[in-house]
Amino acid sequence: MKRSWIKIVVGLFAILLIVMVYNTLRAPKPQPDVTTESIPVLGDSAAIHLSNAIQIKTISKGDTLPIDTAEFVAFRLFLEKSYPLVHQQLTKQTFNQFSYLYTWKGKDSTLAPYVLMAHMDVVPVEAVAEKNWSVPSFSGAIKNDTIWGRGAVDDKVAVIAILESVENLLKQGYTPSRNIYISLGHDEEVSGKRGAKVISAWFKEQGIKPALVLDEGGQIDLQHFKSIQRPVAVVATGEKGYMNIDLSVEIPGGHSSMPTKETAIDVLNKAILQIRSRKMPAEMIEPVRELVQRTSSYESFFTRMVTNNLWLTKKLVISQLEKTKESNAMVHTTLVPTIVQAGIKDNVIPTVARATFNSRILPGQTSDEIVQFIKEAVNDERVVIKKQTISLMEPSSFTPHTHPAFLQIENIIRKSVPKVVVSPFLMIGATDSRYFRSFSDAVLNFSAVQDVKGFHGIDERIGIADLHRMIYFYQQLLQGK
Ligand SMILES: [Zn+2]
Repeated sequence: MKRSWIKIVVGLFAILLIVMVYNTLRAPKPQPDVTTESIPVLGDSAAIHLSNAIQIKTISKGDTLPIDTAEFVAFRLFLEKSYPLVHQQLTKQTFNQFSYLYTWKGKDSTLAPYVLMAHMDVVPVEAVAEKNWSVPSFSGAIKNDTIWGRGAVDDKVAVIAILESVENLLKQGYTPSRNIYISLGHDEEVSGKRGAKVISAWFKEQGIKPALVLDEGGQIDLQHFKSIQRPVAVVATGEKGYMNIDLSVEIPGGHSSMPTKETAIDVLNKAILQIRSRKMPAEMIEPVRELVQRTSSYESFFTRMVTNNLWLTKKLVISQLEKTKESNAMVHTTLVPTIVQAGIKDNVIPTVARATFNSRILPGQTSDEIVQFIKEAVNDERVVIKKQTISLMEPSSFTPHTHPAFLQIENIIRKSVPKVVVSPFLMIGATDSRYFRSFSDAVLNFSAVQDVKGFHGIDERIGIADLHRMIYFYQQLLQGK
């Protein structure tokens, strides 16, 4: 009797192994490396233009804070002066004073157009951080073949690269096969509501369905995939949702010399800890699965067996991804308190304590589910839980990685970056392109840069080689290569 049990177990194990090996062997093989083209050497003008652009302080200070309109006017004049052919030959519409949509008429207007997006505004530099910069933060200094300053990476390099590539092609007398739109927003760093949102609404009104909407987001990653010793170009095909949730507790306060057993702060504190000690259920959504499988196709047979049998190994793979904050955010809806407010005086127990949680919602989950999760975690009726609707953005749908737009971008990257692996991935932050996702299945986020630093931080900078690669990338795209 015991023997036959052993036989059954061994048999089942053998079948399991055969299935796993079969799935591993059947998994897509890495694409063969292609011969790459070298990126043409350009003159100094692009770098000088980016340096000039950085020196104009188009800062978005905050959602409700006014902008310095003189700087945005200066930026408009700078664009007009630097890109004369663009301004002569393309038509330009203005939205809310400082966001622009350029139209470059193609040979065949019946073809679905491309939309190239970038934003002109930048985040501020904190006064206390200024002293930590190696160069003044808005100097646009060029040293060591690198352009330095706020906006060098996010996102003035894209503004410059797009316009530079169009200007170059216009100089050559080139006409694109389809209409090309260039959408330049002026408030991405606050909400995009006055820029990209209204521009995308215009597309919707006109019934224009782009064949590609390309915005900032992914890049060529040299840091995170060391084990395969290859650059990985991540092209975002979807983005997480965005939500703020307010928690408030109201319990009569009083003199701090005679505290009650539980104060508003105590109750709020407990609620915060309850939420932080739990996690929304993990999911491995399509772009993340693709990223894991495409990069692991260069790994050992055993690793491939794990990543190609997710029906069995999903938990194990997710537990690996949970190890770093970046990859953890790709498999979980995150929830973190970002504002806590209570108290007005050291000897008064406050009556009200409030906290705001910021959540980035994983596609497949909804804001209502997150609120329900919080309510269950807190499980205390004294805590009033409310989602903010003004900034709410449900997670987006995905652009399939089989979409012609994805394949074209993939092709250009593979031709220009030696030994690169191209993969879809999920954007953690929000970009202007999210406004297009409600009516377009062709939204992608990618910038052809590989060595950028200081994004939103200190010493933001980009190599001139990266700027030139971006220009090359856009030119290839515009020429339908
Ligand atoms: Zn940006």
